[in-house]
Amino acid sequence: AKTQGRNQTCFFGEVSDKSGGKRELYIQNKLVEAVSGRRIQAWFQPIVNADDGECLVAEVLARWHDADFGWVSPATFIPIAESTGMINELGHQIWLQALPALVAWRERGRNLRLAINISKRQLFSPRVTEQLVGELALAGLAPSDIVLEITESIALLDVANASERLHGLHRIGFHIAIDDFGTGYSALSQLHEMPVSELKIDISFVRRLHEPAGQSMAQAIIHLAKALAMTTVAEGVEDEVTASKLRSMGVDRLQGDHFAKPMPRGEFENWLFGERH
Ligand code: C2E
Ligand code: MG
Ligand code: MG
Ligand code: MG
Repeated sequence: AKTQGRNQTCFFGEVSDKSGGKRELYIQNKLVEAVSGRRIQAWFQPIVNADDGECLVAEVLARWHDADFGWVSPATFIPIAESTGMINELGHQIWLQALPALVAWRERGRNLRLAINISKRQLFSPRVTEQLVGELALAGLAPSDIVLEITESIALLDVANASERLHGLHRIGFHIAIDDFGTGYSALSQLHEMPVSELKIDISFVRRLHEPAGQSMAQAIIHLAKALAMTTVAEGVEDEVTASKLRSMGVDRLQGDHFAKPMPRGEFENWLFGERH
C-alpha cells in the first residue's frame, strides 16, 4: 500500500455529510466499530540523528482507514477517542502492534526506541500506564525502551497533577518528551522541575524557519533545551535546506517527510533495513 496516511486524510470538517450534529455521532460510531474490530493501525516514522541520519527512534502514529471516509486524520479521531474514553482501548491496540515490532527490529540488530504518544486521559489513568508496563514486561522490553510523548499543553498546564504522574513514570524508567513544544503557552519556570529529557519543537516553528522571527523562536527553544540538558527534536522537516539549517542551529534529532513519512510496519522495515540510508 503506497497510500499516505496523512496527505489523503479527511478532517472532521471535510466529511461530506450535511446532517450536522448527527455527523459527529456517526463518525463516533464508526470509530467504536473500528476500535472494537481492531482496525486501527500502528504506523511508524523514523526520528534520525541530525549528524549522521541514523534512525534512533520510531514514533508510533495511529492510522484509521474507513470504507466511507477514507483515511481519517488522527487530528480528528484522537480527540473523539479521548472525549469518549475509547482512547485507552485504542492506545492499547496501538502498543500491542508496536511492541512486538520493536522486539523484531532489535533481534535484527537495530537498537531503536519507540516514541508513543500519550493523551491526557491516558496520562491520568494509572491503569493505562500499568497496562503498558505489563505489556512491556511480557514483550521482554523495559520502560527505558520507550519515549512517552506528551503535548506541552497537557504536561505544563495542569502542572501539579501532570508533574506527579510524569515523575512516577520517569522513576520507573520511561523517557519523557514534550511534544509540540512552544505552542502550549506554559510557564517556562515549570519546565526545569519536570522529569523531561526531550523537547520536540513544534512543526509551526520548523515551517517558519525562513522568517527571522521563526528562526529566532526555534533557536531560543534549542538554547533553552541545551541549558536544561534536554535533547531537541525538530518535527515536520520536509527538505534538505530546512534540515541543514536545523543542524547548524544545533538540533539533535530530525523527523519529517524529508527522511521518511509515517509507514506501515512492513514499509518501515524495508526503509530501516534497506539501502536507503
Ligand atoms: P504528533 O505527535 O505531533 O505527531 C507528528 C505529526 O506530524 C504526525 O501527524 C505526523 O504524521 C506529522 N508529520 C511528520 N512529518 C511531517 C512532515 O514532514 N510534514 C508534515 N506536514 N507533517 C509531518 P499525525 O500522524 O496526523 O498525528 C497527529 C497527532 O495525533 C500527533 O501529533 C499526536 O498528537 C496524535 N496521535 C497520533 N497517533 C496517536 C496515538 O496512537 N495516541 C495518541 N494519544 N495520540 C496520537
Ligand atoms: Mg508525537
Ligand atoms: Mg508534535
Ligand atoms: Mg503535532
